[in-house]
Amino acid sequence: MRFVAQPIARLIEEFNKLPGIGPKSAQRLTHHLLRSPDEEAKALAEAILTLKEQIKLCSVCFNTTDCDPCRICQDKDRDHSRICVVERPSDIFPLEQTGKYDGVYHVIHGTINPAQGVGPDALRIKELLTRLQDDSVVEVIIATNPNVESETVAMYLQQIIKPLGIRVTRLARGLPFGAELEYADDLTLGQALENRREF
Ligand SMILES: [Zn+2]
Repeated sequence: MRFVAQPIARLIEEFNKLPGIGPKSAQRLTHHLLRSPDEEAKALAEAILTLKEQIKLCSVCFNTTDCDPCRICQDKDRDHSRICVVERPSDIFPLEQTGKYDGVYHVIHGTINPAQGVGPDALRIKELLTRLQDDSVVEVIIATNPNVESETVAMYLQQIIKPLGIRVTRLARGLPFGAELEYADDLTLGQALENRREF
């Protein structure tokens, strides 16, 4: 791309690194911004900077947040006796959009992967167990992704939580195997959440 002005080539390259954006889309977005009013481009740049500056992890549930505890953990109208365990903060978005869950969450930040040396200690599982010491928790809903890797962490969680006398449920198999929560449609995910069963 030696014929392209360096700032243009640089932005195309940055867009191209984003998930779901190929070289063509990266070029389209860059040229769109070039044609847009200055304020629009500045607003985008500022939104990206603010995101990185102001977003941290909630000290209770490890969801991404701009206040601590996060808005969900602070919400007194939610049912704090139910904790839904997810792999990533982005998994909370689709679950909230179903409108069928009013409990709280715990983000473990990944899955167990022995081949890559990722054991339970690398995840936020210790912190989950600390939360469970509070007698008020009656149910843990395991909402890990329906794939082989996530199955390992789901099995591990139910093995360590069940002996604590807490009800352990998981999302029903309404989701196609190999799919990711982040990309599931509201209906399928809502049904899976409603039809959750004993582990
Ligand atoms: Zn939180």
